[in-house]
Amino acid sequence: MQEVVLSLGSNLGDREKFLSNAVDLINAEIGDIVKKSSVYETSSWGFDSFNFLNQVIVVNTSAKPLELLDIIQDIEKKLGRKNKSKMVNGIPEYHDRTIDIDILIYGNEIIESERLTIPHPKMRERDFIMNPLRELKIAN
Ligand code: AMP
Repeated sequence: MQEVVLSLGSNLGDREKFLSNAVDLINAEIGDIVKKSSVYETSSWGFDSFNFLNQVIVVNTSAKPLELLDIIQDIEKKLGRKNKSKMVNGIPEYHDRTIDIDILIYGNEIIESERLTIPHPKMRERDFIMNPLRELKIAN
């Protein structure tokens, strides 16, 4: 069993409902949720659009890292996420999304593969991740 930290974000439609549906699906398909931060409202990051609601959760799971990524991507699809971020001329292109789920931390593992970078490389630059991590005493 590993303790993993996930970040959730939504900036389209009924954002609170998407976050709570994501939490329910994560609990059912990934493992028991041990901690949940408050929900934070933040400006969109990297593009100009509607505000996001963000939340960080801690989950116990027996899923291996790539299995976890597959389940997360499946949950994003179930919750209606259409666009994936992609690079355009070397610049990341961000989109509005009903739900975005990222793996921030997977136990003590450091992973750098084609599909997965853990710890999440951008988390230190993003207040919408660091503030909930501070609330949960995972970062200072
Ligand atoms: P996004 O569209 O922003 O959710 O980015 C998803 C892409 O990032 C997927 O293709 C993943 O393979 C990749 N990725 C790399 N590291 C991570 C991570 N720690 N958590 C989630 N996705 C990741």
